[in-house]
Amino acid sequence: MATSPLLARSSTTRRISRRVGDVAPSATLAIDAKAKQLKAQGLDVVGFGAGEPDFPTPDMIVEAAVAACRDPRNHRYTPTAGLPELREAIVGKTARDSGYEIGPSQVLVTNGGKHAVYNAFATLLDPGDEVLVLSPYWTTYPEAIRLAGGVPVEVPTGSASGFKVTVDQLEQAATDRTKVLLFVSPSNPTGAVYNRDAIEQIGRLAAERGWWVVTDEIYEHLVYEGHTQHSLPVVVPELAERCVVVNGVAKTYAMTGWRVGWMIGPADVVEAATNLQSHATSNVNDVAQRATIAALTGDLSAVAEMRTAFDRRRRTIHRMLSDIEGVTCIEPEGAFYAFPSFEGVLGRKLRGRRPATTLELAELVLEESLVAFVPGEAFGAPGYGRFSYALSDEDLVRGVERVAALFAEAEA
Ligand code: PMP
Repeated sequence: MATSPLLARSSTTRRISRRVGDVAPSATLAIDAKAKQLKAQGLDVVGFGAGEPDFPTPDMIVEAAVAACRDPRNHRYTPTAGLPELREAIVGKTARDSGYEIGPSQVLVTNGGKHAVYNAFATLLDPGDEVLVLSPYWTTYPEAIRLAGGVPVEVPTGSASGFKVTVDQLEQAATDRTKVLLFVSPSNPTGAVYNRDAIEQIGRLAAERGWWVVTDEIYEHLVYEGHTQHSLPVVVPELAERCVVVNGVAKTYAMTGWRVGWMIGPADVVEAATNLQSHATSNVNDVAQRATIAALTGDLSAVAEMRTAFDRRRRTIHRMLSDIEGVTCIEPEGAFYAFPSFEGVLGRKLRGRRPATTLELAELVLEESLVAFVPGEAFGAPGYGRFSYALSDEDLVRGVERVAALFAEAEA
C-alpha cells in the first residue's frame, strides 16, 4: 500500500533542526550534574566549576533595583537597545575605564555578555564565513559562531607561550574566508592577559587584512599585579570601524544573575543587531537596567575589594597546584581561573583506575575527593583543567588539599 504523502513527510522530518541539533552538548554538563547530585545527597563537595564571583551584588546596586521595582514606570518595555540613560552610562563608563570614545547609537544592551556574543556573530556572519578562535576558548564561542552559520577555526595556544597567540599563528590560520578574529583578554579559561605590544601587533594585522574583531572585555577589571588592561580599538583606533566590543556587569559587580551585558560596535552593526534582538528577546529586564545604571555610574571601590580577594586566592591556588607532583600551572594574570596541566597525572593508576583523559580525571576527582573542576575538553584543551578561584579562601584550600592528597596516591 502506498504511504500517504502526509505520513511520508512526517517520517522524514527531523524532530530537532540540524542547526540546533548540532550544538555540542556541554562537556561540563556531566560533571556538573554529578556534583549537584552529590551535593543534594548532603556530601561536602568543593566546587571550582562556577564562573561567577562568590560575593553578593554590592548594596548600592541592590538598593537601586529595589527602588526601581517600586516605580511602575519600570514595569514596562524599554526601547530594545536599552534605556537611553543606560546607553549613556555605558558611553561614560567605556570612556572612563578603557578610554574608548563612542556614542550611544553604538551601544546595544543585551541579556548578559553571552547574548552580546550571540548577537555579534548572528549580525556579522554569513554561512561559511570563518572566525579565528584562539584555544583554549570559552565553551560558548564556537557554538555561537556555528549557530550563525560561521565556521570556527581554532588557533591553538599552549602553556609554553602563556596561552598567547602570535601574529604568525594567526597568519597561518587565516584564509580568504576569514571574516572575524575573536579576541579575549583577560581570558576564560586561561587567565592570560595580553600586553599592549601584543595587542597592537594583533590589531594591526586585523586592520591590514580587513578582518572584523570581536573583542570580549568582560574581565577588564580583574587584572593583577604587573598587568594592565588595554582595549583593542583604543590601541589600534583604525579598527573601530570593524570592531565589536562585548562587555557586561556580571563579573565586575558580582551580577551574574541579573543578566545585563552589552555590545559596542559601528552604528550600522548595532542597528542591525537591535533589529534582530527586537524579534528575539526585546529589551533587557527594566529593573536590571536601572540597577546597571547605578553600578556603572558609581565608583569602582567594590570591584577593588573583590579584586584584592581574588588576587589573594590566585596566589594561593597557583602555589598549591604547582606544589602537586605531576601538575604544572602557569600563573594566572587576570579573570578568576587557574588552568593547570594534568599531563603528568594522566595514565597513572589512581584508586584502581587509570584516567586517560581530563574528562575521566575530573570524574574520578569528584567521586573520590568530592572536588569539582571543569575538564579542559570543555575549552578545546584536553590535558588541562579549569579551577575557578571565585570561592572562599577556606574552601579553596580545603579543595586543593584534597586533590593533592588524592594525587599523592598515584602509582606508575
Ligand atoms: N565572556 C566570557 C569570556 C565569559 O567567561 C562569560 C561568562 N562565563 C561571558 C562572556 C558572559 O557572561 P554573562 O553572559 O554572564 O554576562
